[in-house]
Amino acid sequence: MTEQRKHIYIAYTGGTIGMAKTAQGYQPVAGFLEQKLRSLPEFTRADMPQFTVHEYQPLLDSSDMTPAHWQMIAADILANYSRYDGFVVLHGTDTMAYTASALSFMLPDLGKPVIVTGSQIPLAEMRSDGHDNLLNALYIAANYPLAEVGLFFHHQLLRGNRASKTDAKGFNAFTSPNCEPLLNVGIDVQPRLPPLRPLHPNTPSFQPVSPKAIAVLTLYPGLDFSLAEHWLAQPLDGLILQTFGAGNAPQQPQLLNALKAAHQRGVVLVNHTQCARGGVNMGGYAGGHALRDCGLVSAGDMTLEATLTKLHVLLSRTGAPAQIIASTRTLMEKSLCGELTATE
Ligand code: ASP
Repeated sequence: MTEQRKHIYIAYTGGTIGMAKTAQGYQPVAGFLEQKLRSLPEFTRADMPQFTVHEYQPLLDSSDMTPAHWQMIAADILANYSRYDGFVVLHGTDTMAYTASALSFMLPDLGKPVIVTGSQIPLAEMRSDGHDNLLNALYIAANYPLAEVGLFFHHQLLRGNRASKTDAKGFNAFTSPNCEPLLNVGIDVQPRLPPLRPLHPNTPSFQPVSPKAIAVLTLYPGLDFSLAEHWLAQPLDGLILQTFGAGNAPQQPQLLNALKAAHQRGVVLVNHTQCARGGVNMGGYAGGHALRDCGLVSAGDMTLEATLTKLHVLLSRTGAPAQIIASTRTLMEKSLCGELTATE
């Protein structure tokens, strides 16, 4: 008996990969990407999976993406979940790592592959990286036991909530600074990390998002602390403080008092390092200790994209506000779906 050909759902949200040259420059043109794909024989070979393209309207540049779009993509995957073997999300590269992270927290016990990909040069152009990225994403979604959200780019499948866009020009646009790739794709497809969980047919749970006031405040030498005070006095749900090194901040009463007051008001304060590699350790220096004393919780070695989307998803849960705040503070420091390296 021959194995049935797999069927992959492509959620095409926009981005460079599907753009066409128009009189106004590159822009997404309705129907163009699918037409192009169907004309390329390698995408329709018998040993490739079948695919269905769902083109979003309007097609978006990913700089325009908001949490409402994460919700739309997650709901779309869920609505089609039982009918397909895997999902590929075509997305602009600029905020791809945010969407991949958000999807991982919104669909926390996924049992099928979801692979987010795109390209730096449109698929229709010479030397496009879109061809390789999409072909591999489809192939992996059909053939590898990936029960989580991955991000495929330039010969690597990265864990979605570990990836960051780190190169605006090169084909190797994404890195995963604190976690091995899931797969390296060369002559062979080499698994590098053990699977997060086995594939399973059950419908995953869905954690929707709602609008949340989250700020990101970057520390730098010379920051006027009255500016930080103004930020922290806003009606915030959460604030990510981008600190120095292993999670340190200047020990200035004006800053520390403003943080403490925000914490006491119920704002979830998260300490995230500005360093791409390594993570926060508030037990090391006095500058870190002081932040722990003000109520900050640690982002560990999460990317900014994972920290922000995780905070947003956790704060979007429904229930008694005090309980949501307390459990968000606890869960930010725990690995929910591989997004951080446990330190104890
Ligand atoms: N600005 C585009 C986007 O993120 C860039 C890309 O797709 O590579 O949608």
